[in-house]
Amino acid sequence: MWSMVLAQVSGFRFQDSGRFFQALLLLLAVSLSASAQMRQSDELLLPGTAEASGVVVRASSEAEAREVLFLTLKMHAKVCEMLCLTSKPPSAISWYTDTNAWKNFSRQSDARIEGKGLSGGSTIAILSDNSDAHESLAHELVHHVLKHSSPAPLPLWYEEGCAASYGWCTAKWLGQMEGRNLIRTQPALPKSELLAFEVLLGCKDYPALATANAAYSRQSEELVRFLETRLGPANFQKLGRLLAGDQNLHNCLMDNFNFSEEDWDVLKRAVYVRSTTKQER
Ligand SMILES: [Zn+2]
Repeated sequence: MWSMVLAQVSGFRFQDSGRFFQALLLLLAVSLSASAQMRQSDELLLPGTAEASGVVVRASSEAEAREVLFLTLKMHAKVCEMLCLTSKPPSAISWYTDTNAWKNFSRQSDARIEGKGLSGGSTIAILSDNSDAHESLAHELVHHVLKHSSPAPLPLWYEEGCAASYGWCTAKWLGQMEGRNLIRTQPALPKSELLAFEVLLGCKDYPALATANAAYSRQSEELVRFLETRLGPANFQKLGRLLAGDQNLHNCLMDNFNFSEEDWDVLKRAVYVRSTTKQER
């Protein structure tokens, strides 16, 4: 197909603007059809589809798609309840069990993918290659709910910390409903890999290095948990609303929650305590 295009392009004179635009249109049509073919082949790897309540789930079989759809609707409702927020469920979930298909998808995706999940626009994609896939789905659902219920972008640490903390709580809740007791083991983070407090608060994108990304997620979660315990659930939700307007955490805490500089120092230390393996159930 490309040789046909090149033959057409080489035959025209640049002064002939009509033919120039014809060639451009042809090139555009070919590239669009190539990307459509990529999407088609991507979907062929996910042949099972299930749909309910406006959510389309694609997975490797219809039975799996139905199961993921059920999990999604259940966990989405739980996330909304825990965060006291309302949002529609995501419009589509792609559930990958094949690592190569996931790699293909990751290469085609415009967004940076952290770990085994992606939440972008109104869709979620998950790599389900081991037992923590339910936690990955819950984690991405928290990102989805926060993005779609907040009037303005939230600080990345807040979103990531909530996704890590509430995602785990949601997966644990689901496990208990199904008679399984989940255990989460987080490996120790060497002190040398921990991010400086100002870096943690200022990140606008996930760190590129996997080790720095792991530290970013853990430290953000510690910060969220500290704040939730210190402020209480209602004030923690109020903090989320305030941060969507002004992302400066120091100002938000000082102006609205009677924080002192001593309190601020205690908070800073809270994100540096996890240099040992942590296990939760
Ligand atoms: Zn995340």
